[in-house]
Amino acid sequence: MTDVTTCTPWRRAVVTGGAGFIGSHLCERLLNAGVEVDCADNLCSGTRDNIAHLRGRPGFRFVECDVCAAEAPGRLAGPYDLVLHFACPASPVDYLRLPLETLDVGSLGTRGMLALAERDGARFLLASTSEVYGDPLVHPQREDYWGNVNPVGPRSVYDESKRFAEALVTAHVRARDADAGIVRLFNTYGPRMRAHDGRVVPTFVCQALAGEPLTVAGDGSQTRSLCYVDDTVEGILLVAASRSVRPVNIGGTDEVTVREIAARVVELTGSSSRIEFVDRPADDPQRRRPDIAMARELLGWAPRVPWEEGIKQTIAHFAARPLPEPVPHF
Ligand code: UDP
Repeated sequence: MTDVTTCTPWRRAVVTGGAGFIGSHLCERLLNAGVEVDCADNLCSGTRDNIAHLRGRPGFRFVECDVCAAEAPGRLAGPYDLVLHFACPASPVDYLRLPLETLDVGSLGTRGMLALAERDGARFLLASTSEVYGDPLVHPQREDYWGNVNPVGPRSVYDESKRFAEALVTAHVRARDADAGIVRLFNTYGPRMRAHDGRVVPTFVCQALAGEPLTVAGDGSQTRSLCYVDDTVEGILLVAASRSVRPVNIGGTDEVTVREIAARVVELTGSSSRIEFVDRPADDPQRRRPDIAMARELLGWAPRVPWEEGIKQTIAHFAARPLPEPVPHF
């Protein structure tokens, strides 16, 4: 597989949502490859902690701003040759707390960041999601599947925001010949997720470390395909470095049930926690696994980090911090 850090074609990048989980890893990886990075974030779900180790590094700049605001492009002086648009509340807990902001960042924010890329003649990449497939009726999900999304369900603010953002990017490619791509990210896990962001891996790891019951939703038979953040970041940068204007799936291929995730976390933390079955959230997708044939063929990409290694890094991250108080489920 190509190692993107040895062939980085950019001089200066802006990462919106750069203080978030995946965004902060992207900033770090780009800086390590010698790219100057402006990290734009309004800290609605990202944190200063995620980028504390990057501040002061040559070439790194944090710009606290809302990418939906009219003044955002002026604050992002550039010139950039890469715009990575990753700003968006991404966990159910966050987008249910910030429904209108979530819709705004996919629409207004994407529009503004496309204009920024056009201003500088930069390559643009949208962080999209497996949620565009909704509760999929086709399995595994290929990029040409249109999805099964409830437009008025609780998850719709996120799903439709990303679907609209994909339409905006595609319109810019068609109507304005933009150099713009779309990466559809499946469930990613790793250090710098927030303990209370509600997603399955940080929730189970923190519960296991605290000896609390692991809250498995429904009967836990629903599946996800987890991908370690380093693999996801590699895939993102390879899509960015390609000239692809089509959506590309980036995700893990090891499909496991939520019950299996709980069992694996208990085993690797050596915890004595038990499983507690709780209500399943509305419209929770039953099965999810990407078909990554396009990423393999186009980029030579496939996930490399084994689960045991990725989850050990993740456990070490949370074990080094004070454990959060247990929170009510969902
Ligand atoms: N989940 C769970 N217990 C939790 C948090 C999540 O059983 O404490 C389940 C959730 O219902 C879903 C799966 O884990 O079926 C993945 O949820 P997550 O929020 O991590 O990601 P998404 O649903 O967006 O894929």
